[in-house]
Amino acid sequence: MDSALDTQTNQPDTADLHDWDRTHQLHPWAAMDDWRGYDHMMVDSAKGIYLWDASGKRFIDGPGGMWCVQIGYGRQEMADAIAAQVMTLPYTSPWTTVTEPSAILAKKIADMAPGDLNNVFFTTGGSTAVDTAIRTVHFMNNRLGRPDKKIVIAREKGYHGSTYLASSVTGKERDKSRFDVESRLVRFLPDVNPYRRRDGQSVQDWCDEKVADLENMIAEVGAENIGAFIAEPILCSGGVIVPPEGYHKRTHEICRAHDILYISDEVVTGFGRLGHWFASQEVFGITPDIITCAKGLTSGYLPLGACIISDAVMERMTDPDDSVLFANGYTYSAHPVCCIAALKNIEIIENEGLLEHVREVAPHFQARLQALRKFDIVGDVRGMGLLGCIEGSARTLAGERRLGAMLDEACEEMGLLVRPLINMAVFSPPLIITRAEIDEMFDILERALEQVQAQLS
Ligand code: PLP
Repeated sequence: MDSALDTQTNQPDTADLHDWDRTHQLHPWAAMDDWRGYDHMMVDSAKGIYLWDASGKRFIDGPGGMWCVQIGYGRQEMADAIAAQVMTLPYTSPWTTVTEPSAILAKKIADMAPGDLNNVFFTTGGSTAVDTAIRTVHFMNNRLGRPDKKIVIAREKGYHGSTYLASSVTGKERDKSRFDVESRLVRFLPDVNPYRRRDGQSVQDWCDEKVADLENMIAEVGAENIGAFIAEPILCSGGVIVPPEGYHKRTHEICRAHDILYISDEVVTGFGRLGHWFASQEVFGITPDIITCAKGLTSGYLPLGACIISDAVMERMTDPDDSVLFANGYTYSAHPVCCIAALKNIEIIENEGLLEHVREVAPHFQARLQALRKFDIVGDVRGMGLLGCIEGSARTLAGERRLGAMLDEACEEMGLLVRPLINMAVFSPPLIITRAEIDEMFDILERALEQVQAQLS
């Protein structure tokens, strides 16, 4: 194994590393019944859309890391930009100073974001961007003398992060089990998955029902108690749930009518996943009050997130006669090295025309995805842009094991990584993926589905 670490002597072997990992490293989302008994894949290196494990086996990175590696791996120009910034200025206080990278990046993001979303608060990732968004809503309503207007309406199956506030508005039960959350702060609407509509119900009728759910909840809780509605444009880690046509526009209008701020969580959908910098306006036709983003902002090369706030909200938070601090921040807000990584990432996306590329290859990606319906173990497939999900049919729910795990195992054997989610598998490959590589990925998926179907029959 080649390592970037210069340990010179006693280079550990893979068995040592697995041992130290199992003994000392607690991974995110660890299964607590057996967290020491499980060997994670030891990833050794990566280039383009591929990863190599410690044995030298190559895999297509189907999930693009965790929905984040837009420009692909092994970019020399990214390494050079990061190294140069480390040598020029690796850190400075975001409270009392500003740097060239953060000022340029703030301007760039404000230019990309829709409408009057011109104010960028840098965070350490997606969860802290969501925290900042909710704290902004609270700060604004306290400043406006509306201390009760604080409740956040969120959606079941939505994922917004792992900090206390972000996990409180997360609607995935699995992500909250045995943890406490701030439940007084949040109300959940049912998720908006047309696959779950009743037999014979039209998608339009289903959409009307889901929009009415929001109206009913506002009537029940009282708009004077509700500060914000938070939604992912496509509900991603809840299973790539694409809402019915018009859902976002209609819910956005309802929020506007009740002075409820609309937070669009674009942590996954931002930075090119759907072929645009942001999906809210370009794909779904709404200008939210706040957008949160992270992941694709740096393509995962370094951690950075942002909470983008409208001028209108900023105006309502500002009071010339009352100089209260907006005391929200992180030591690593606007970190200059992370901001340089984001600027280089944006430059690569622009120079290589990756937004246009996604718009060009996405129809082929989605057509190959739809073709997987021919397997009778597949209940639903759905997606948009370079996002996709396969959900198992009732047949895959009969035994002990779910489609996600079975497909994951079969694909891994064949050189493709997927992200299993109970009875589903999801994909968000690097945006640089070519048409031929999309075919390579779906050819493997088809062979893996054939194998799993044979196992289940
Ligand atoms: N919001 C969404 C929509 C996400 O998918 C995620 C992470 O997957 C987050 C927020 C949290 O981001 P992070 O893990 O960077 O804190």
